[in-house]
Amino acid sequence: MIEPVRDPAVIEGYLRDASNLLGHAELLFRPASTAEVAEVLRWCQREGMPLTVAARRTSTTGAPVPMGGALLSTERLATVHSLTEVDGGVLLGEYQSTVEASGRFFPPDPTSRHECSVGGAIACNASGSRTFKYGPMRPWVESVEAVLADGTVVTADRDTPVPWPVPRWVEPAVKTAAGLYPADNLLDLLIGSEGLLGVVTRARLRLTALPPNVLTMLVFLPTREGLLQFLPRARALAPRCIESFDRQALELIRGRVPDVPTADCALLLEIEHEGEPPIEPWFDLLSDVGALLDDTIVVTDDSGRARLHAVRHALPASVNEILIQNGVQKVGTDFAVPADRLGELLALYDAVPMRSVCFGHIGDSHLHKNLLPRNAEELAAARALYFDLARAAVAMGGTVSGEHGIGRLKKSHLALMVPPEVIDGWRTLKRQVDPAGVLGRGVMFD
Ligand SMILES: Cc1cc2nc3c(=O)[nH]c(=O)nc-3n(C[C@H](O)[C@H](O)[C@H](O)COP(=O)(O)OP(=O)(O)OC[C@H]3O[C@@H](n4cnc5c(N)ncnc54)[C@H](O)[C@@H]3O)c2cc1C
Repeated sequence: MIEPVRDPAVIEGYLRDASNLLGHAELLFRPASTAEVAEVLRWCQREGMPLTVAARRTSTTGAPVPMGGALLSTERLATVHSLTEVDGGVLLGEYQSTVEASGRFFPPDPTSRHECSVGGAIACNASGSRTFKYGPMRPWVESVEAVLADGTVVTADRDTPVPWPVPRWVEPAVKTAAGLYPADNLLDLLIGSEGLLGVVTRARLRLTALPPNVLTMLVFLPTREGLLQFLPRARALAPRCIESFDRQALELIRGRVPDVPTADCALLLEIEHEGEPPIEPWFDLLSDVGALLDDTIVVTDDSGRARLHAVRHALPASVNEILIQNGVQKVGTDFAVPADRLGELLALYDAVPMRSVCFGHIGDSHLHKNLLPRNAEELAAARALYFDLARAAVAMGGTVSGEHGIGRLKKSHLALMVPPEVIDGWRTLKRQVDPAGVLGRGVMFD
């Protein structure tokens, strides 16, 4: 068996994720091979030792935060074997750069892709701005090698049957990453299972052709009406992403980019194209909905797009910095609702009586409204507000998580959306793969 790290000073560096939830653990394993991962899991089963899988800890839900027991870090499972075969601990952005240098493309692009791992993105069925066109991680994973919670090593693809009964349930008809997928094969069950059923040690991924050209625009809309008129017509022009930043988000951005105009919201659009960039139909539409045409930023090269992405990425990072300064945990929504209910959700968000910042994947009607409590009292109020918003999103036919998953912090919200008998069915399934209940104890459901 590999020797665990027991030094609290080393372990301390692994106890928090981006939600700012702090955990504790007695042992840290850093296996460098699938066989070592299997040894650790078999030992944990024998000892009844709780084990939490932690990759890059960019989760916003407390999912990789241990509450006692042992931690398994995937940091040493970090080899890119070929353009389509990677270890679970490889950084997603690093892998994507390798793929793109060969003229191929792996589309899923969580904003955190340069900080998160391939295995973490699979475990959360992560999404990104390009999910609007290409979907989340799920369709881009062809197979995985995983060590199940009982220490069995499996290779799972879409022909691999699930050896345990999987509860049937109908997910909301929106982009969603909440709960165990109602899968008929082992691969789809593992994708999005938040490290509860096994450790993804290696994955075979699907690639597509690198788009020849991308037109990127940052546009500013002065009114809510303009935004709601813009979205259905923009969707018809088939961009690959429509991202939004609200007025308060623009204030935060202004700290880094001084000449940002005042507007109700800004949208970041990316349009893949061949030949000349299709600027005319977009400017016709922007003019129709009253966008600030003179302030529109149009970029056709990769480095310009990277600069705009850096601004986009600075937002969640700035929010997380504020939370750390305030000494509180993240209270950020991850709801997606059907497109025809987006206006209602935005109206509810506008009415939130607390400092907040809203941004996200508006093309998928999926926004992150981040409440910014300043102390423990406001944190409690923010959580109560959040719960009411979650209930409203579910009533609209939406999901409590479009991409971040449930983790430790959103279990009560999952229960608003998923019937208790389904959650009971997941417990039964979990007991079969994980008899001692060691892996990810307390994540997704109790
Ligand atoms: C600034 C910022 C922006 C973000 N933007 C996005 C976004 O646009 N879209 C999005 O979807 N998410 C986003 N996230 C959330 C987060 O980055 C993703 O959920 C990411 O997939 C987590 O990967 P990780 O390697 O950090 O995993 P961790 O946070 O370490 O773990 C996440 C979960 O996956 C499990 N896990 C990790 N590795 C494995 C493995 N090999 N096998 C089995 N289980 C495993 C863990 O146990 C845990 O349950 C963002 C986070 C931040 C901080």
